[in-house]
Amino acid sequence: MSYDLVIKNGRIITAGEDFVGDVAIAGESIAALGQQLSGSREIDASGLYVIPGAVDGHVHLQMPIADIVTADSFEQGTIAAACGGVTSIIDFVEPGKGQDLVEALEWRRTEADGHVVIDYGLHMTLLDADPLILAQVSEAYDQGCATFKLYTAYPHFYLTDDELYRALRAVAEAGGLAVVHAENYPVITEVWKRLLAEGKVETKWHPYSRPAVTEAEAVNRVLSIAHLVGAPTLIFHLSCGEAAREVAYAKERGWAAFGETCPQYLTLTDDIYEREDMPGTWFICQPPIRGSAQAAALWQSLATGSIDIISTDHCPFSAEVKKYGEQNFTLTPGGVAGIETRLALVHNFGVLAGYLTLNRWVEACCTLPADLHGMTRKGHLIPGYDADIVLFDPRKEITYSAEMLHSNISYTPYAGITVKGAPVTTISRGEVIVEDGQFTGTRGRGQFLKRRYE
Ligand SMILES: [Zn+2]
Repeated sequence: MSYDLVIKNGRIITAGEDFVGDVAIAGESIAALGQQLSGSREIDASGLYVIPGAVDGHVHLQMPIADIVTADSFEQGTIAAACGGVTSIIDFVEPGKGQDLVEALEWRRTEADGHVVIDYGLHMTLLDADPLILAQVSEAYDQGCATFKLYTAYPHFYLTDDELYRALRAVAEAGGLAVVHAENYPVITEVWKRLLAEGKVETKWHPYSRPAVTEAEAVNRVLSIAHLVGAPTLIFHLSCGEAAREVAYAKERGWAAFGETCPQYLTLTDDIYEREDMPGTWFICQPPIRGSAQAAALWQSLATGSIDIISTDHCPFSAEVKKYGEQNFTLTPGGVAGIETRLALVHNFGVLAGYLTLNRWVEACCTLPADLHGMTRKGHLIPGYDADIVLFDPRKEITYSAEMLHSNISYTPYAGITVKGAPVTTISRGEVIVEDGQFTGTRGRGQFLKRRYE
């Protein structure tokens, strides 16, 4: 039997397996795994890792905040993702106050469809607990938004405990997953006020303004309320051991609690807020980047599984926009870029440093994100699944610079960092869209992923 495309002699690494062999693709799907398969096109993957395409469950492309917008369009951001070995992303619908959820979803899709180069899903943001809006949660789920974003931070998004209770209940009733930004915003606001009154306006005060305990407390509270109403819940961007321990404790009690962290919390430390060569505002994100002991605690939590997955929270603002916070760190639009660098950073600082096995690397970056977010054909190298595959060269060395990356900003938080091991070829639904690190796909080929739980 001859297939359309066969990846030959690669080291096939999945969440559970590790062997040398071939992967055969027919059309857009994986057809077979085995030895000596043949196809009308063959790619020699000798010496390379063959892994499922990475899934980034948390990105913000062309996201408006007041009069500014994140720097990457759906096209540019997904090209950067593809070059980093990512074959699916999940972005967000942010409805206006009182706006119909499905109408907001359709509107957001018009910004992405025809532009994305890889497949994408959308989380639905619940801004408040308006009963008319919560009554639409099931319909949004049926339209493929299986996951609902709730915040306990930011003035426009903040949910009080009673609102959290009602929103989480609606998510539970629809059969969805809640994804939550958990920080104690009222307390953080008070800490800000005190710091600013003392003249502490420089970026180095950013981590002091959002202490680990304000994150851990919110995680505990959110997971407790979620358990009360039976809502499976994924805590986004865990940044410290204290918060990760709350997720671990919930898991120990048998709760449907999951954790996500991001490379900026794993590979950077809070001295970046005081560096001479780069403005600290570039690194302002919420929660903040913390000390090296916290990064080590996060790696440990990933190794034991109390943190399940790694995404990026890719949220790039231009260097110009980051200047808004120069005189007062609290005015900085928060977010860092990372959509292209995750697989290689986690491989280098996680696998090569001895925290994670190769299988756990694939599980945390590719397989579990697909499973947790309700993608039914992604994240696995199994016949019948989409042929989303990445060839990763463990010998290739890269020193990061903004110029070599594809994000539409003039800087990268990872400038000067050298990693060993990098993605070289990306295949999306059977089509080679990145070859030798060069994007070769076409704009608009990506599809909206209707996600659901089975
Ligand atoms: Zn985010």
